[in-house]
Parts: sequence; structure tokens; C-alpha cells
Amino acid sequence: MDKNTSYIKIREQGGRITKIRSEIVNIISNKDCLISSTGLLSGLSKLNIHPNRSTIYRELQFLTKNNVILKKTISGVDYYEIPHDHHHHHHLVCMNCNSIIKVEMNNHLEEQEKQIAKQNKFNIINHSLEFYGYCQKCQA
Ligand SMILES: [Zn+2]
Ligand SMILES: [Zn+2]
Ligand SMILES: [Zn+2]
Repeated sequence: MDKNTSYIKIREQGGRITKIRSEIVNIISNKDCLISSTGLLSGLSKLNIHPNRSTIYRELQFLTKNNVILKKTISGVDYYEIPHDHHHHHHLVCMNCNSIIKVEMNNHLEEQEKQIAKQNKFNIINHSLEFYGYCQKCQA
């Protein structure tokens, strides 16, 4: 999903494309994988944008609620990512150094999602999958 799709989603929800809102979407979509709230804040501060806690909290909540961004809490840290409708990926999470590796998978799971949706008459918007373990460095 590109930035324009994000903007369309925001407008559909009656939201305005404010400066801070569009910069948050830009930073998250440029990362192309999970970015922590700390990473996001440092990205904003490089642009000389210094929102207070409640502003950033409200923005992230609005964007998450409207499925413009996805929120994942991994090992107690909040991460954000742009949902990709067709070509998305999953994650390997190292339980020792907390590094996150992006992995692409074949289509089995995505096909199964359709079956699960049908069987349960459930309108699935997205799914998230993290594999937990130890990265190569941490296995040594
Ligand atoms: Zn990712
Ligand atoms: Zn590791
Ligand atoms: Zn998937």
C-alpha cells in the first residue's frame, strides 16, 4: 500500500491530512517494516517536528483504528507498520537481542485465510504472524 492509499483511507474516515499525520505515514511507509514508537519520534524530530505525548498518542490511535497503520506489541515494545493488502510479510523476532527480520512466505497461509474467513463467516481485514526464537548471532 502506498502513501496515496493511506491518504485515501484517512479521508474516507473523515480525517484531515495534517502535517504531522502525513509525516507519520511517510516515516512509517519509508521504513517498509516495523518501526518502534521511539524510532518514529526520532524520525519526526529530524524533521524538526516535536509533538507532545498526547498528540502522538492520539495520531497513532486514529491511524491504527482506521487501519492506515498496523500496531504490534512485541516484547513489550509498540511497533507500527503500513498494512500491505496483497504483498505482505511476516517477522522473525529474536528473543535475545530483540532484532526483527522480515520474511516473505509462500501463499499457503494466505489461501488458508480465505477458507477460515468463509468457515467462520468472518470478514478478515488482516493477519499478523511472528516467529519467536534466536537469530544466528545469538545462537553462537
Ligand atoms: Zn514488517
Ligand atoms: Zn539475536
Ligand atoms: Zn500473511
